Amino acid sequence: MTITSINPATNKTLETFESLSKDETMAAVAKADDAFRDWRQTSFDHRKNIILKFASQLRERADEFARLITLDMGKRISESQREIEYCAEISEFYANGAETFLADQPMELEGVDAYIQYAPLGVLMGVMPWNFPFYQVTRFATPNIMAGNVVMVKHASNVPQCAQAITELFTACGLPEGVYTNLFIPTEFVEAIVSDRRVQGVSLTGSEKAGAAVAAVAGKNLKRSVLELGGNDPFIVLEDADLAKTVELAVKGRMVNAGQSCVASKRFIVVEAVADEFLAEFKEQMANVTMGDPMDEATTLAPLSSEAAAVQLQEQVQATIDAGATVLLGGDRPDREGAFFNPTILTGITPDMPSFDQELFGPVASVYIVKDEAAAIELANHSSYGLGGSVYTNDVQRGRRVAEQIETGMMFVNQPTRSQAELPFGGIKNSGYGRELSHLGILEFVNKKLIHLG
Ligand code: NDP
Repeated sequence: MTITSINPATNKTLETFESLSKDETMAAVAKADDAFRDWRQTSFDHRKNIILKFASQLRERADEFARLITLDMGKRISESQREIEYCAEISEFYANGAETFLADQPMELEGVDAYIQYAPLGVLMGVMPWNFPFYQVTRFATPNIMAGNVVMVKHASNVPQCAQAITELFTACGLPEGVYTNLFIPTEFVEAIVSDRRVQGVSLTGSEKAGAAVAAVAGKNLKRSVLELGGNDPFIVLEDADLAKTVELAVKGRMVNAGQSCVASKRFIVVEAVADEFLAEFKEQMANVTMGDPMDEATTLAPLSSEAAAVQLQEQVQATIDAGATVLLGGDRPDREGAFFNPTILTGITPDMPSFDQELFGPVASVYIVKDEAAAIELANHSSYGLGGSVYTNDVQRGRRVAEQIETGMMFVNQPTRSQAELPFGGIKNSGYGRELSHLGILEFVNKKLIHLG
């Protein structure tokens, strides 16, 4: 089997990579397990030097890596550059913070001399998606490598150039063989890896379907898992919001990465007092995009990650239109080469329609008009997802009150959900479980071990 990089802006094949055989894959697991024995003994300073070098190389070679992202999955080049910069920030955050986050915790109990040690677990498996091909890997790999674990990554099959570049960079920065392993493998091999007794846990970012499949294997084999799955983030506009600013953020929140972000704003829930004004301005700004080559700095709307992704989105949108939703803007694909999708706004979506509770991974906004704040909260919570969300109001206390009532893992007042190295990231319900980033992210795959000194 081969793994192929296809430029979604042209649908032309760029590079092909050979995938590993099952035997080669299991040999890589054995090598990772061997590597763990030495790696767990290394000092924080040793690990820190390597991860800081990784960060500085990311910065130094940012243009080269950003180009690979854009070629593999079509992201706008300026967004690819920002992704690389952000990976450097995450790497530095864990390189500098790990020793503190993982310091022994004395038990504050009278008459008891005991502490909690954060010990590494061993070989971890990562199954990663294509939408942020450097970021997703960095946020899984760097905290775990700093914690003394070793990681293996099966990257999404449409970003092999990025997968190859990441593994080469770790090696160039001095990471010993087996501490980070890139696996060019078909999805079927993941089960054998996660089931292997030498593998201690798995982290997956991707669709619910993939998450449920991998978590089932982890559960059956009593392995730890972290899942970061889809989202259907509410963007709640209250009547006292600064409308001009809110519309600008709505467009930004929806169009990030051509709409292909788990925490992109997807359901715009607007109270009726400001709905007409919001819709008119939102439509104008959503329509005002320059679709084109993602390598061109002037482009503001890039293609989707693949032809298959564009076809899937078209099916979801069409099924919703057929079920009676209103198309305020777009709704289809442009007549041009590449995996492009027109900016789209749908209204009049009801709970019985297909996309009401599906993640629309592209530049498609669903707008809901509700009577008041209470109705907005109720609709926001009427979702099987629970990743992020945001609320817009001039009254921060009101924003806080609303935010506290929304059933998601992250809520922001007056800005769309975003990711930052210092802030915990993750969801509830079908959006998954566990947290990444921040001090919580590094604690997911460590043994919180009690040492009692008698
Ligand atoms: P997938 O969930 O299929 O892909 C994510 C990763 O999981 C890839 O590495 C994929 O491998 C792997 N994978 C898929 N199925 C299995 C399995 N049964 N066992 C082990 N690994 C598996 O996402 P898609 O690319 O198909 O996108 C579909 C939808 O998923 C999107 O439209 C979006 O709604 C959602 N999604 C959400 C993301 C997020 O950030 N939360 C990211 C990506 C997708 P391979 O590439 O080889 O198939």
